[in-house]
Amino acid sequence: MAAPKVAVVGAGVVGLSTALCIAETCPSCSLTVLSDQFSPNTTSDVAAGMLIPHTYPGTPIHVQKQWFKETFAYLFAISNSAEASEAGIHLISGWQVFKNTPKEELPFWSDVVLGFRLMSGAELQKFPQHQFGQAFTTLKCDCPPYLLWLEKRLKATGVQICTRKVADLWELHSEYNVVVNCAGIGAQQLVGDKKLFPVRGQVLKVHAPWVKNFIRDGDGLTYIYPGIHRVTLGGTREKENWSLSPDPGTTKDIFDRCCSLEPSLQGAQDIKVKVGLRPSRQGVRLEREVLNQGGVKLPVVHNYGHGAGGFSVHRGTAKEAARLVGECIAALQDSSSRAKL
Ligand code: FAD
Repeated sequence: MAAPKVAVVGAGVVGLSTALCIAETCPSCSLTVLSDQFSPNTTSDVAAGMLIPHTYPGTPIHVQKQWFKETFAYLFAISNSAEASEAGIHLISGWQVFKNTPKEELPFWSDVVLGFRLMSGAELQKFPQHQFGQAFTTLKCDCPPYLLWLEKRLKATGVQICTRKVADLWELHSEYNVVVNCAGIGAQQLVGDKKLFPVRGQVLKVHAPWVKNFIRDGDGLTYIYPGIHRVTLGGTREKENWSLSPDPGTTKDIFDRCCSLEPSLQGAQDIKVKVGLRPSRQGVRLEREVLNQGGVKLPVVHNYGHGAGGFSVHRGTAKEAARLVGECIAALQDSSSRAKL
């Protein structure tokens, strides 16, 4: 069989990192990324890019933890290299604070982040409305630079990158041997997945360079995440809301909530508002499927539905998707060598 032709649909953090893992594990593949939008116009560009996992109720915890561990290790190595500033990856310390003590004082990821501990009473004095807190160091991606860095690495390994809207995965069957679906919320239309739904998120990106620590309310709704150049203030979680237009009332509400956690934000300047649709499901869809029309087959690997935690687990899910692509190629090679016998 000639060099297998693989197409990855989608150029958010999931599509680009999946393509990179495929290029690393299958250097003989001819690989193409097809997407209707690229950075800065994807959901991944809107994200805060913090490595604090979201919990997927439909995925076993040990699997989620493995994805997070692999992602943390990968980005930690980048943060510790000369590439860190171009890739937009940095370590960041801060606090997750709770108005009431949570049921789970130690989250499943507490031994993956660095230096996880409960906050002291003296530290909690900074947050008079909260009575419990966790302090730790994690990683943050500045999302548009990270996406551009991934794209640059793909181009350097010879991967083709093309602008194309795919209406149906089957339309790719005559051009590619394997197709990888990383279409994010676009998968709802692309493969008719009724279990996938948007969770709208509105955030503010502000200039406040004096804010150095992250602060996250344990309810997950209000957060302050300093990046290299801007601080992300959030947020909202609006299920089944497809609107990409910023809402001015929500902007004021987010700003007020963040100021009540960190009063110095009153001095923040140059406030920009962004909206994104989290591709949400009970669990990430990460599996093989074989499409079949009239006896003609097209192996597909799905990798979408990362909801509120795509940055936190992207490398782990990309590695698994690349392994599944390897299985598809091995099956194709096996059937082509059997056909020659
Ligand atoms: P996307 O980035 O949406 O990429 C999908 C790609 O597929 C796009 O390039 C699109 O153009 C392409 N596409 C879709 N349909 C088609 C088609 N038919 N043909 C061709 N191309 C197609 N996660 C974290 O881990 N940490 C955070 O701090 C964090 N903060 C967030 C804050 C907000 C406000 C939001 C909205 C999300 C946040 N997330 C966070 C979640 C994270 O952004 C997502 O999980 C992640 O971006 C999903 O990546 P993706 O590549 O699957 O989707």
